[in-house]
Amino acid sequence: MVTRELDRVPDGRPPTQNSRPDRDEPPGRVAGAAPFGLSVGGVPGVPGACARCVDTGRTCPSCVQRRRFAWSLVMEQGESADTAARVLGLEQNRVQELLAAEQDRRELRSLRCDSIPVNRTRAAIADALARDPDLTIPDIAGWLEMQQADFERAFLGKGRNGQAKRRVTVANASRLMIALGRAPNELEGC
Ligand SMILES: [Zn+2]
Repeated sequence: MVTRELDRVPDGRPPTQNSRPDRDEPPGRVAGAAPFGLSVGGVPGVPGACARCVDTGRTCPSCVQRRRFAWSLVMEQGESADTAARVLGLEQNRVQELLAAEQDRRELRSLRCDSIPVNRTRAAIADALARDPDLTIPDIAGWLEMQQADFERAFLGKGRNGQAKRRVTVANASRLMIALGRAPNELEGC
């Protein structure tokens, strides 16, 4: 299941342990997945997981194997997602989902620290603004569903009463990078 840290709080408080959607949530909508249009196969009407994953609320061993195998086929052996889908007997969008999940795991593994200096996120934001003249800080804050002032404090280190924030949690930095359409591991390093 890909939650991509999206449902974590944006202001530096520790994330809650339970970032999974409620088991009671009706199928068809997984919190955190929809904003990026991740459509998946597997169980009809239930995005992101097979029946066993849905049943247990976590990735089942078979899907862990599928996820690693899909990654190996596409990323290491250079096969197309189409071919991987045929080999695995899955729909192509399910393969894309598995690849995204494995990517997430690898990125999180590469980010062994739990916070990074705020100048890393500041640079990523400056870079995004430089690439798109129409893009504004309020736009990016809006993508993260944050007030501009909160966003600037969290990701640009703008202090209130002279108290500048120096570090950004990796979870929040990852959210920012994903919102900017970039890979979280571009911020690697503590
Ligand atoms: Zn499964």
